This record gives sequence, structure tokens and C-alpha cells, in this order.
Amino acid sequence: MRADVCVIGGGYTGLWTALALRRREPSARVVLVEAERCGAGPSGRNGGFVHGYWASLAEARVTLGDADALELARAGEQIIPAIRALDADVWLREGGMLMVSSAPAQDRAVDEAVRAAGELGAPDHAVFLDRDALAARVRSPVFRRGVFFRECATVQPARLVRALRRAAIGAGVELHERTPATALREGEVVTPRGRVRTDAVVVAVNAWGTAWRPLSRNVTNFGSYVVLTEPVPELLAETRWTGGEAIVDGRMFLHYFRTTDDGRVLMGSGSGPIGFGGRIDRRFVNDAPTAARAERGLRRLLPGLATARVERAWGGPIDVSADHLPLFGTVPGTSTHFGLGYSGHGVGPSWLGGQILASLALGRDDEWTSLPLATRKVPRLPPEPLKRLGGGLVRAAIMRCEEAEEEGQRAPFPARAIAELPRLVGMQIGTR
Ligand SMILES: Cc1cc2nc3c(=O)[nH]c(=O)nc-3n(C[C@H](O)[C@H](O)[C@H](O)COP(=O)(O)OP(=O)(O)OC[C@H]3O[C@@H](n4cnc5c(N)ncnc54)[C@H](O)[C@@H]3O)c2cc1C
Repeated sequence: MRADVCVIGGGYTGLWTALALRRREPSARVVLVEAERCGAGPSGRNGGFVHGYWASLAEARVTLGDADALELARAGEQIIPAIRALDADVWLREGGMLMVSSAPAQDRAVDEAVRAAGELGAPDHAVFLDRDALAARVRSPVFRRGVFFRECATVQPARLVRALRRAAIGAGVELHERTPATALREGEVVTPRGRVRTDAVVVAVNAWGTAWRPLSRNVTNFGSYVVLTEPVPELLAETRWTGGEAIVDGRMFLHYFRTTDDGRVLMGSGSGPIGFGGRIDRRFVNDAPTAARAERGLRRLLPGLATARVERAWGGPIDVSADHLPLFGTVPGTSTHFGLGYSGHGVGPSWLGGQILASLALGRDDEWTSLPLATRKVPRLPPEPLKRLGGGLVRAAIMRCEEAEEEGQRAPFPARAIAELPRLVGMQIGTR
């Protein structure tokens, strides 16, 4: 078939892109091919935290500089309204987000978030909470201090991807599920049942893109896992956690946790396995040790929920970029555009990704293509097998340090020394 734009991948990125294309160019023929069905990847099974970049201002200003970090944070303010405008029942709850410190070593993350917002003239976006103020929102004996980011919501992730799928079809996107792209040539996408000849291609395959040569030195895969409890509304009331706040702790391999509309608690851990050469294997959906870490996090961080039974556990691959920000661009000399590298934070930012990719595919130079996500120089990662081996070593060392810190201990010297290596060699990935 013939298309003006062929989008590969039916997660949030591909669907927002296709939707933006049809809304901006109603006469454009937009074809989307998805290997399985829309939402089969992490878009259908993530933790449902939706935010832009106010909560990561402290890190973004280091990577981008103050002006670009602010520009990005402001651009991200349009994400939640865009989800609201879908006018679909995606369990959108705009309760903000807390970052809590649960060990002295995590205090710094809280303090830096507050300082960054204050110094950049946006103190309302990161409000400091002492132990008592934090306890008024959620009670836990291990929470020391926290920061409240007003810009965050939670959704039921699969409902969001289904709503987007409906919106895309309604807007005239031609959707082909169970249709993997098996080859990509200039102006042509090959699938088992046919080919799409097209003026532009958008590759929106997230973690599956880390094996693709143009991007393999910019991104690597990690696993992220969640556990979900049975409904426990009465325990949530006892812990005072009824405001719908999403919560993260101050670790690098962070715990992320939230409540759901039906009174459950979801607890996630970003400490899953590292991929090799971009391969997505079974460890990314079935890794008992990472699921166990997520459950240990639940029991430690929220002892008031000790009796809540875990009903489900699942995981998926996340695409971690060398500076933790997503990257959008065009393969030089081609009309193939790409977007990935959300580093486990793509639910909200994929909306920005959709706007940028639509502009790139339409050949426009506008407010979206000038965002730092599309213009910055992305640092490179070492080649394989160094990427996997070095990453594995540093991951184990950092996890050892973070676990020791939570127990009020100091990790052994070798672990502390290895955990410092990425910073010493000037890398942004793997630094705490
Ligand atoms: C357990 C877990 C929890 C998470 N929690 C959060 C969270 O709370 N908040 C947050 O912001 N982020 C979270 N994330 C990350 C978030 O889910 C992703 O950043 C986001 O879903 C990325 O969307 P995407 O459309 O780019 O990718 P995906 O959802 O992965 O979509 C890519 C699609 O491409 C398809 N595909 C792959 N190869 C091909 C091919 N050759 N041809 C056609 N189609 C192909 C796949 O089947 C898939 O459907 C989490 C991730 C995981 C795994």
C-alpha cells in the first residue's frame, strides 16, 4: 500500500504521532503497523505515572542547562491536558507526586529537587515537606522528608492505550495490528503480508529499537517490574494515603508506588535485568528476583500495608538513554525518524514525542522540533560487550549500596568504588 507516513509501533509514541499527523494534515494517509496489538509493549502495562519534566528539573538542568530545562518543563505542562482532552475513562487522577527520602543517603535527592525549582524561579513546582507534613499525606515510619510535585497524575495504562487506539482510528489512521515491520528501506516498510511505500517513516518501537544500528550506542535496555496488591481501601485510609499521590523514593533504582481507583497499591522497582545487544528476552517479563525486590520495597516503605496480599506481578523492558532523556531525530540522509529513550518515564513524555515526530515527518521546523529532546547532542554508550558488562557491574554495585543505606549501613568499599566509576569517567548514566 501507499502512505504519506508509515508509523512503526502501536504504543503511546506511535499512536500520539499518528493522531497528531491526522489532526495537523487531515488529508495525509497515515498507516500504523504494530507487531502484536496496540499496547502489547510497556504502554499497556506500566505503572501509570503521568508527568512531564518539572519533577526532574534538578537532573535536566545538569544535562541541558537552566534555560532548556525550563523550556522542556513548560512544554510538558501540556501533557495532562492532552490526556484530559481525550475525554475517555482512563482513570485519570491528578493527585501530584511525592518524592520521599527513606534513608539519609536519599535526603540529597529531595533537597536538590527543591533547590532546583527555587533557583529557577518555580518554587511552587517542588514544595518541601518535612516529616510531619509528609505524614499528613501518607504515614510511614521510614519516610524522613519529601517534596511535592503538583504536576503528576496517574492513569490506568491499558485504558489509556486503548483510548488512544480508538482516537487514532476515529481520526482516520489506518491501523494494522499483528503486522511486524520486518525490514526498513528508504521509502519502504516491509511486513510479512505486504509492503508500505511511504514518503516518511516513524520508528516508535521503544525498547525494541535498542538493537537498531543507528541507535544502538545511544540506548540500552533495563527491566522494570511492578507488583499489585488486592484492594485494601481500609488500610489506605489508616495510612492516610487517600489523596491519589504517586510516590517515588530517592534511590537511583527507584521504587515507584501509587494507589488505583479500585483501592489497590501498585509498587514498582526499576532494578530489573540489563539487556545485551538490544535483545528483549523472557527476563524482561518474567524475572522473579526483581518482582521480589518490588515486594520487599512495598513491605519496607509501607509497613501499614503488611497484610495486603500481592495478587499480580509483571514487568517489561525500558529503554534507557545515555543521559536519561528521550531522543528524537532523523537518520541522516533518510526520511526515517525515530523516538525512544524515555528511560522508564515515557507515559507523559510520549505525548511530546508524538508532537515532535509528527513535525519531523511533515518536514516542519517548529516549536516541537526545536525542543532540546530533538536538538541536543546525545552522549554515547560504550559498544557491546562493554555496555552489558560495565552496566551489570555498576548496577550490582549501586544496588548493594542502596540496600545497605536503607539498612543504615555502609556498603563494602569495592561496591562504593564501582558505584562511583560512571561519575568519575564523566558519564550521566549509572550515576546517583
Ligand atoms: C513495568 C513498567 C512500568 C513503567 N511505569 C511507568 C510509569 O509509571 N510512568 C512512566 O512514565 N513510564 C513508565 N514506564 C515506561 C513506559 O511504559 C514507556 O516509556 C512507554 O510506554 C513507551 O511507549 P512507546 O510507545 O514508546 O513504547 P511501547 O509501549 O513499547 O510500544 C512499542 C510498540 O512497538 C511494537 N513493535 C516492536 N517492534 C516492532 C516491529 N518490528 N514492527 C511493528 N511493531 C513493533 C511493540 O509491539 C510495541 O507495541 C514503565 C515501563 C514498565 C515496563
